[in-house]
Amino acid sequence: MRLSQFHLRTEKETPADAEIVSHQLMLRAGMVRRLAAGLYTWSPLGLRVLRKVEAVVREEMNRAGAIEMAMPSVQPKELWEETGRWQKFGPQLLKIRDRKEQDYCFTPTAEEAVTDFFRQEFASYRQLPVNLYQVTSKFRDEIRPRFGVMRAREFIMKDAYSFHVGDEDLQREYRNMYDTYTRIFTRLGLKFRAVAADTGAIGGSASHEFHVLADSGEDALAFSETSGYAANVELAEAVAPGARAGATEQLRKVDTPVQKTCEDVAALLGIALQRTVKSVALWGEDGFVLALVRGDHVVNEIKLAKLAGLADYRLATEAEIREHLGAEPGFLGPIGAKRPIRIVADRAVAAMADFVVGANESGFHLAGVNWGRDLPEPDEVADIRNVVAGDPSPDGQGTLALARGIEVGHVFALGRRYSEAMQCTVLDEAGKAVHPAMGCYGIGVSRIVAAAIEQNHDASGIVWPAPMAPWQAVVCVINPKGNAEVAAAAEALYRELLEAGLDTALDDRGLRPGPMFADIELIGIPHRVVVSERGLAAGTFEYRARSAAESESLDREALLSRLL
Ligand code: ATP
Ligand code: MG
Ligand code: MG
Ligand code: MG
Repeated sequence: MRLSQFHLRTEKETPADAEIVSHQLMLRAGMVRRLAAGLYTWSPLGLRVLRKVEAVVREEMNRAGAIEMAMPSVQPKELWEETGRWQKFGPQLLKIRDRKEQDYCFTPTAEEAVTDFFRQEFASYRQLPVNLYQVTSKFRDEIRPRFGVMRAREFIMKDAYSFHVGDEDLQREYRNMYDTYTRIFTRLGLKFRAVAADTGAIGGSASHEFHVLADSGEDALAFSETSGYAANVELAEAVAPGARAGATEQLRKVDTPVQKTCEDVAALLGIALQRTVKSVALWGEDGFVLALVRGDHVVNEIKLAKLAGLADYRLATEAEIREHLGAEPGFLGPIGAKRPIRIVADRAVAAMADFVVGANESGFHLAGVNWGRDLPEPDEVADIRNVVAGDPSPDGQGTLALARGIEVGHVFALGRRYSEAMQCTVLDEAGKAVHPAMGCYGIGVSRIVAAAIEQNHDASGIVWPAPMAPWQAVVCVINPKGNAEVAAAAEALYRELLEAGLDTALDDRGLRPGPMFADIELIGIPHRVVVSERGLAAGTFEYRARSAAESESLDREALLSRLL
């Protein structure tokens, strides 16, 4: 690529409205431009990087035996009603109406669409297992899109869906995808960690997230170097043994027996509200059970309000709950009713609340602030650290350490939830119709670009890991118009590198060395070669690796052996 014929537009100044370094550098390098909140245009430069990431993802998915396909972005309401997710997905689901007054959504994920394809195309166990994937735009109406493409509303996701006759085969493929993700993030040159995670809105039995480690990450991870235990903090807190009761202890977790009453729940919520939390959501497996928006709820609001020290509280109306949480209200039961209730976290609903209350076999837990919504204040981070860091591990070995992470991948063993809801069956070996077990596996392709910059930058700009650099090398020509010999030597080197298979750019824009080098450093090209009159006279090229402090003079042989 000749940069004189390419579109590069860089900026010196750090944009005032970009909070984190990847967003700042992507704007300064001219990789993306904002179209509207959470909507970004990828410039030719940005797209080269995005395509590099996609290429690695595709190669590894193909190597793992998955097959690429493509499903529509706009999907009919009827399909999403089959699984109940037209309602349950919540306000992140962008709903669209066509001229015939038919309802559609813009796909945030594609379990329904792929299950529909599967039930039309697959009939027998002989055709299984199969893993189908696509790399397409997804839309989620994030409550607060931020950090550029890191948390956008429209973004590129690789989503894969596998179908199996037996649970063991699903486990095998889950492991296969886990290993594939490990290969993908390793190849991309990222420092990452896989952690056990909550199964969230997608549902299912087993789930791991892959996080790129970065202080700007919205998630908190708890892990033990010695025992190998690693979990998203939400999950770590839900399973860590040992109670910490009492509001004065800045409580994050209450361990109580599974026989819970509504009164206990109210006490929990009261503690949450004392932390100046405005809203709390509780929901059950069968939908929404209770919402609090400054004290609105369906238990005993007087007792709760007293607990929470709230003066202004009221019952939420059904319409408000629906409007606020995009979920169907259910019923918790009157206070004092000594019946167990099981409540599980649902990410789509949780995204709307400051606190999430979940349950497992050992009781109810406050699962912490919702990291996906806001970066916590510094003292809140310290608070979380106090609560978990140094605690024994949940697996009984070692102690917990904490790190912040950016979620770039997520694997789920879904089980039969979608195949059952959508009446999707295949014939097994005995000729019996069975619901296939499913897995689903997502990668935030466009988020990876930003996450990589969070980990790889310096004062001059981006320092791309080689596999995602827009070009591997750039040949910079000093004064190409003024010296034909220099221009010809640069052209010859450029062609030689291209022919040898190195993705190379020729900077023939005729800029002065200062601005030219500043651009090349900002956009992060791993190898820079300068062809100048002085170098030619000495028979050398000036070479500098992006990550190196100094440049070196190399003759042709030495240069080629360095680059190829
Ligand atoms: P998050 O917790 O960051 O909101 P998620 O858990 O909702 O992500 P998944 O449903 O697991 O996301 O989707 C698979 C992947 O898609 C995520 O691991 C993430 O890398 C990416 N992703 C999700 N939401 C966004 C977004 N708003 N912008 C960019 N990438 C996203
Ligand atoms: Mg999300
Ligand atoms: Mg998540
Ligand atoms: Mg996820």
